[in-house]
Amino acid sequence: MKFNTKLIHAGISQDKATGAVNVPIYQTSTYAQTELGGQPEYEYSRTGNPTRQAVEDLIRDLENGVAGFAFASGSAAIHNVFSLFSAGDHIIVGNDVYGGTFRLINTVLKRQGLEFTVVDTRDLDEVKNAIKNNTKAVYLETPTNPLMRITDIAAIAEVGHENDLLTIVDNTFATPYIQQPLNLGADIVLHSASKYLGGHSDLVAGLVVVKDKDLGEKIGYLQNAIGGILGPQDSWLLQRGIKTLAVRMQAHEKNAQKIFEFLNNNQSIAKIYYPGDREAEDFKVVQKQMNGFGGMLSFELKKGLSVKKFIEALKVITLAESLGSVESLVEVPAIMTHGSIPEKIRLKNGISNELIRLSVGIEQSEDLIEDLKQALDKAQN
Ligand SMILES: *Cc1c(COP(=O)(O)O)cnc(C)c1O
Repeated sequence: MKFNTKLIHAGISQDKATGAVNVPIYQTSTYAQTELGGQPEYEYSRTGNPTRQAVEDLIRDLENGVAGFAFASGSAAIHNVFSLFSAGDHIIVGNDVYGGTFRLINTVLKRQGLEFTVVDTRDLDEVKNAIKNNTKAVYLETPTNPLMRITDIAAIAEVGHENDLLTIVDNTFATPYIQQPLNLGADIVLHSASKYLGGHSDLVAGLVVVKDKDLGEKIGYLQNAIGGILGPQDSWLLQRGIKTLAVRMQAHEKNAQKIFEFLNNNQSIAKIYYPGDREAEDFKVVQKQMNGFGGMLSFELKKGLSVKKFIEALKVITLAESLGSVESLVEVPAIMTHGSIPEKIRLKNGISNELIRLSVGIEQSEDLIEDLKQALDKAQN
C-alpha cells in the first residue's frame, strides 16, 4: 500500500464489531470477561482500548514499525521513552531539541540520575566523542525547532549500531509523510501529535513507534505502568486528523515555499531558516532523507525593526504557541516556546531575541503574503 492510501486504510480503519467506517469512541474503562482467568483482548483501558489501538496501529504502519503507542501528550511520550533508562545511564542529546524536552531533562531526569551530553548531532565527530561506557542512546530532532537544522539520521543510526546505542528521533516537524526515521535506521520514532498529525489545534497527544519487538514490549510495559495514555475521545480525533495528513502537508508545503520566496527577496529580512533553502549548508542531507520541506520556517528581521510591532500588526497569522495546524501561527521562541532555556545557552545555540518562527497554514497564500507585507511595513521604528 502506498503512503497516502495507508493514511486512510492502514492500522484498524473500520470497527470490527459493526463495520462502522470510523472506529467508534469506546468510552469505557473496563470490559466484561467471559471466563475467570481467561486472556481477554481488552481488560482495562489504561492497558488497552480499541479506539486507542486503532490510532496506535495506524501510526505503527505509517512509520513502518512493529508497534505504536499513544500518550496524553508529546511530552508524556518522550518521558515514557526516557523511562527505558536507569540512573547512571548516559544519553547524547541534540542541542536544538524542543524546549520542553530540555526542561524534562534538566529539571526531572537529571534529578533521577540520568546523565546527558548536549551536542550538535549534525557533527558526527561530536557525537562519537561524546560516547562513554555508560552511553545508551542518541536523542535528536530533525528538522530542529526553531532553527531547521538537519541531522543525517542514517549516519547517526550507523554510529549508534556500532556502539550499541539506541537512535531516538522526534519526527514532529517532518511527519512520516516527509521522513521515516525507522527506514533510515533509527530504533524509536516519536511525535507530538498535537502538531501536524492532529493538524487542527484541537488536541494534545503523543505517539511512539518502535522498530523491534523487544523494544515494543518494553515501551508497552512502561506505557501501562506509568499510565500517561491517550483517552478514547482524543484517540478518535487524532485518527480523524491523520487521515488528511497528505493533503494538508501538500498545502502547507506549497504555501511555505511561496512565503520563503517572498521573505528571501525582502529588504526587511536578515536571515531565513527553511529546509527548502537550496543555499543552506544542510540541504544535501534534506535531499537525502526528506520527501519535501514541510511547512515550518523561521526568520530574523533586519536590525532596527521592531519584532513586537511586526507580530502585533499581523491580522491573518495568529500569535500563538504550537505549530502544524491548518491556521498559520507565529511565535517568538526567545519569549515563548524556548523561554525556559537560560538566555546564555539559548543565544549560544543560535536562538536570538529577534528570531520569529512561522508555522505556515493552509490558507490562500496571497492572504498570508499580504499580511506579512503590511506587518513588515509597520515594523519600521
Ligand atoms: C510540541 C513538541 C513537543 C511536545 O509535545 P506536547 O504534545 O506539547 O507535549 C515535543 N517535540 C516537539 C518537536 C514539539 O514541537
